[in-house]
Amino acid sequence: MTVNEKELAERVIRISGVNTKKCMKCGKCSGTCPSFEEMEYHPHQFVSMVEKGQIKKLMESKSIWTCLSCFACIERCPRSVEPAKLIEAVRVCVIRQQGENHLKANAVPEKLDENMPQQAIVSAFRKYSK
Ligand code: SF4
Ligand code: SF4
Repeated sequence: MTVNEKELAERVIRISGVNTKKCMKCGKCSGTCPSFEEMEYHPHQFVSMVEKGQIKKLMESKSIWTCLSCFACIERCPRSVEPAKLIEAVRVCVIRQQGENHLKANAVPEKLDENMPQQAIVSAFRKYSK
């Protein structure tokens, strides 16, 4: 882990307020994730990768944008680890690094289609309006 990555890991922990050490690696968060197939790294992997300080891989992964922010992983976790908060924190790090939003809020309507669940629309506003 480089120093820079160590700082990033500390930032993700600070922003999210998550204690990765509580994770017992049961995988229930990933088992319940509706975006599992779309995610290169799954919620339980976010927890272990943040624990190991592998933040850059997470920041470069499309997983942070394919997470629906539905919080099912938070509901399912028996240890209250809250993986979605880590994913949110990694997204915030990317957005702050870019100095702007990944996608402007007013560009969201163009990406909507009639089959898109309402949850995705709500989570898009949550994700893209930092
Ligand atoms: S918040 Fe993201 S990672 Fe958690 S269950 Fe929903 S889609 Fe999956
Ligand atoms: S459900 Fe909770 S305890 Fe289990 S792997 Fe996911 S974060 Fe860890």
